[in-house]
Amino acid sequence: MKVYCAPKHQLAHYPSQFLVSGAPQPNPEVPERLDRLLAAVRQGGHEVHESEDHGLGPVAAVHTPDYLNFLSGIYERWQRIEGASEEVVPNIHPDRRDIGYPRSAVGQAGYHMADTACPIGAGSWDAIRWSANNAVSAAQEVLAGIPASYALCRPPGHHAFADLAGGFCYLNNAAIAANVLRQTHARIAIVDVDLHHGNGTQGIFYRRPDVFTVSVHADPTRFYPFFWGYADERGEGAGLGYNLNLPLRRGSGDVAFLEALDRGVAALRGFMPTALVVALGLDAFEGDPFAGLGVTTDGFARIGEALAGLALPSVIVQEGGYLCDALGNNLTAFLGAFEAHHRPG
Ligand SMILES: [Zn+2]
Repeated sequence: MKVYCAPKHQLAHYPSQFLVSGAPQPNPEVPERLDRLLAAVRQGGHEVHESEDHGLGPVAAVHTPDYLNFLSGIYERWQRIEGASEEVVPNIHPDRRDIGYPRSAVGQAGYHMADTACPIGAGSWDAIRWSANNAVSAAQEVLAGIPASYALCRPPGHHAFADLAGGFCYLNNAAIAANVLRQTHARIAIVDVDLHHGNGTQGIFYRRPDVFTVSVHADPTRFYPFFWGYADERGEGAGLGYNLNLPLRRGSGDVAFLEALDRGVAALRGFMPTALVVALGLDAFEGDPFAGLGVTTDGFARIGEALAGLALPSVIVQEGGYLCDALGNNLTAFLGAFEAHHRPG
């Protein structure tokens, strides 16, 4: 499978910490994730390509101008605040978003950042932009006729809304890829198999009937992202019925995960999508540090097989999945099984 990445840009983003139940913890979205995933795809015999710079056009089709100005300029503005932290981290949030746009750097950080898990440091914007370039390159290749591609995105994207970062995510790479595919495809399916609900992706397409979003994830009642990911969130307006959440009890393993995924795939068949974006988190793994679900390495192969069964031109976008011994094997298990069972046509 063709793999798209831009390591020299992506490795420059090194967020130091985030708050868990109020306590500072080391941020697990570390550059080494990229090194491990890249080594795994090379070992798996996949063809690695450097992404091209597509500019901000494909990104601006999903994200707002205010938000892109914020992401690109906030680090330098933050450095001019006396006594400010090295990284941009929010400490106050508006209770509503219809009362005018804040002018100050601190106000904008609170407006555009949902939580403390998306700090912005010196190299962040470059990495964020190139992570999105990978998604655009991978989607353009599929538009050009290859059956499937993999975008090695880091930082990840599925918690990012049109104007809001959160949960290690800044630009929604899967949404950007889906929007690129819309150039020629009338109906796109997005299937998110990350441990955490893809709340940003859901938010971006919530009122749209042309992109059907399915997410299988750990029950958010006592788990990130807390406010989204419940089964009764089904879309709104023209988008009603085109969002399907399949929350799983904490600790669920391969059987429960694959049953939920089968329900998602069955729902998609009725939608008759012509292209697929997979938001591939690997943190549902039983040995992942987040310890939310119990999917095995073989389980990832079966997830790959089930998604390949949709037989659609596909862009696979990397989401979460944190340092543990099997991180690379979980990726190659998914990609290998996907490729072996994928017969689009
Ligand atoms: Zn996750």
